[in-house]
Amino acid sequence: MGTRNLLTIQIEDALEEATECPLCYLTEKYETRFIETFYSEWVMDPGCRANVLRSRGFCNYHLHQLLRSTENHPEKHGLAIILEDLVRDRLKSLERLCDDDHNPIGIWSQADLLATLKHLLLGRTPESLHRFAQEVFVNLSHMESLCPACLSLSESDRSNCQTMIRMMVEDQGFRSIFKESNGLCLPHLTELMRFASERLDRQSFSSVVEILLSLQVKRFRHLKFELSEFIRKQDYRFRKEGFGPEFDVVERTILKLIGSSCHGSIQRRTMNLTDTDLDSQIESSEKCEGRRTGQNRVRCCASTVHGSALRTDEEL
Ligand SMILES: [Zn+2]
Ligand SMILES: [Zn+2]
Repeated sequence: MGTRNLLTIQIEDALEEATECPLCYLTEKYETRFIETFYSEWVMDPGCRANVLRSRGFCNYHLHQLLRSTENHPEKHGLAIILEDLVRDRLKSLERLCDDDHNPIGIWSQADLLATLKHLLLGRTPESLHRFAQEVFVNLSHMESLCPACLSLSESDRSNCQTMIRMMVEDQGFRSIFKESNGLCLPHLTELMRFASERLDRQSFSSVVEILLSLQVKRFRHLKFELSEFIRKQDYRFRKEGFGPEFDVVERTILKLIGSSCHGSIQRRTMNLTDTDLDSQIESSEKCEGRRTGQNRVRCCASTVHGSALRTDEEL
């Protein structure tokens, strides 16, 4: 029996609740909490807003998530405050790009701006224009920074992966429950195997791989059966049979193959980063104080929202 703590209990709960991947399930839960904290605390906290600016805002996926969440968090006002910061910052970058002589920003007329741009670009060689385009890319794209939501969620995801591996090695009871579960999505399966290969000795690694792969094969066989049932029942001859558990197999198969959309976003943003890169991004971000919102304590900005930070005070 391994040591039980809030993280392990959380993973056990997720294993019961998740349809296809407990790690995706937890990431989605954290994302919901992250968005709640954003609207309840971040927007009014200058330190957190400065962190958003340093990260050059949110990634495409999370900014759209924040916008969609205004249905539940009607204070679109908060989002507007963050957006105003970002627009002001981007406008400065744009104006700097348009100006070769570092004139005072923001005071030119549109005609001045056009004339300056003409002067700046005219007569440049193709190489120099190419360098200019690169400069625009570096100054305006998101590529050099990591969205605060992705950073925070990837940190909690990493912690969950590590905890799950430890549970598989140390906790016979968890291994038994896991073997009867729906397993993981493919992206989390590969992540877990990577973590396990980096951290476990040969014997432990082999036993973890054995559990993971055998369960994955079992689950894929079952999905294949359910998909064929779903397809068969589309035929008018069998339609009257009605759908059984395969009624949502299309959604579940997508989850199994590529993970939740939330996890997909984090993965895209962090796939080329090593653990050390991620650690240094987290360290370099200013940490905001742990804050309390009602019963929940969630740290904001680049600080983690994982594990105990997601637990309510009662649970703590
Ligand atoms: Zn997953
Ligand atoms: Zn993001």
